[in-house]
Amino acid sequence: MLARRLHGIPPTVFSQMSALAMRTGAVNLGQGFPDFPGPDFVKDAAKAAIEGDLNQYAIGHGALRLRRAIAATWADQTGQEIDPEREVTVTSGATEAIFDAIQAFIGPGDELISFEPFYDSYPTSATLAGGRLVPVTLYPPDWSFDPDQLRAAFSSRTRALILNTPHNPTGKVFSRQELEVIAAICQEHDVVVITDEVYDRIVFDDAVHVPLATLPGMWERTLTINSTGKTFSMTGWKIGYAVGPASLNAALRAVHQFVTFASATPFQEAMATAFETAPQRGYYDRLRADYTRRRDLLRAALDDAGLPTLPIGGSYFLMADLAGLGFPDDASFCRFLTSEIGVAAVPPSAFYLDQARAPLLARFCFAKKDQTLRAAAERLVRLTSRITEMMSVANR
Ligand code: PMP
Ligand code: GLN
Repeated sequence: MLARRLHGIPPTVFSQMSALAMRTGAVNLGQGFPDFPGPDFVKDAAKAAIEGDLNQYAIGHGALRLRRAIAATWADQTGQEIDPEREVTVTSGATEAIFDAIQAFIGPGDELISFEPFYDSYPTSATLAGGRLVPVTLYPPDWSFDPDQLRAAFSSRTRALILNTPHNPTGKVFSRQELEVIAAICQEHDVVVITDEVYDRIVFDDAVHVPLATLPGMWERTLTINSTGKTFSMTGWKIGYAVGPASLNAALRAVHQFVTFASATPFQEAMATAFETAPQRGYYDRLRADYTRRRDLLRAALDDAGLPTLPIGGSYFLMADLAGLGFPDDASFCRFLTSEIGVAAVPPSAFYLDQARAPLLARFCFAKKDQTLRAAAERLVRLTSRITEMMSVANR
């Protein structure tokens, strides 16, 4: 009974791994979401909005106060004044903005270019639009790309490129030089660029997040997507947004009005408060410091367990190297780790069109309480002895 374009779309790897973690009682470092509470000042603002009867449909393209706060935040970050009426749209999470943008720019037979690994909603959103995703490889350990391979991915059917930085699952933050290469090629081929910058506030050490839209000639062709779920640790509220020129926002809104029409009003009001007051509260610096501590905690735990991690510039994920552990693929390792060691991780092969292309790694999320990370650490120390035990049983 299913429409043909839905064939072969399984439940997402995040739902699968969270369900397995629940069933087995594992510490869940798989699905990316904070297990600590979001900030009180944002929760209080939502309660006040509900009590204040801000509970009916918001303006379809976003509550005005929130769009103004997003525009002011963009101006703080980039120095560019934008028009909250025409250049900002609020959506139900970044997922909806990504879906809407892909429906808006990709038609039957069209191609969307993305670096691989890619966030799992990109290829399916392209398929549902009747088009397809064309991957360009990122090579570990620094997840660099070959500009010639990027050029070669373009065809007469290419309509858009989607770029995720800071990048899930690798933690790569694209450098200005890399962005310049991407920008030049996109301008040469005259395509729209969708950027997914949901981890823009979660960067480490000397990594600097540069929005592609701020490069010369890029504003006019770039739709920048973001999510308050990551920035304010409220993934369940699903308040995302897009910033870009009026023409691209109009295209996005044409889809958005028939996908969700509007996002939850009190949560939009609360996020307006969040953006308006975050700088004076020192919120962004604290967010970064807290995530740096959590990253260091998890990195040490994985190292101690014999799982060396790759360097990251941003996001809340670490990739651990599984070479030499004797597993044929990342999925079998992640199932073993969840059910036998009691720690869930996500197999990055879910972020590849052809799973055989995925290097042997596992993705661990550190958006977790220190106590959760410590509980994971305690379980992870058993890893090597448990593997040896299993091998000796297998060889008997
Ligand atoms: N893009 C990336 C790269 C993500 O990691 C996520 C969520 N983890 C999203 C988009 C979706 O964001 P949202 O929850 O706001 O829909
Ligand atoms: N983006 C989150 C991750 O990468 C998961 C979001 C979801 O489950 N849809 O883990």
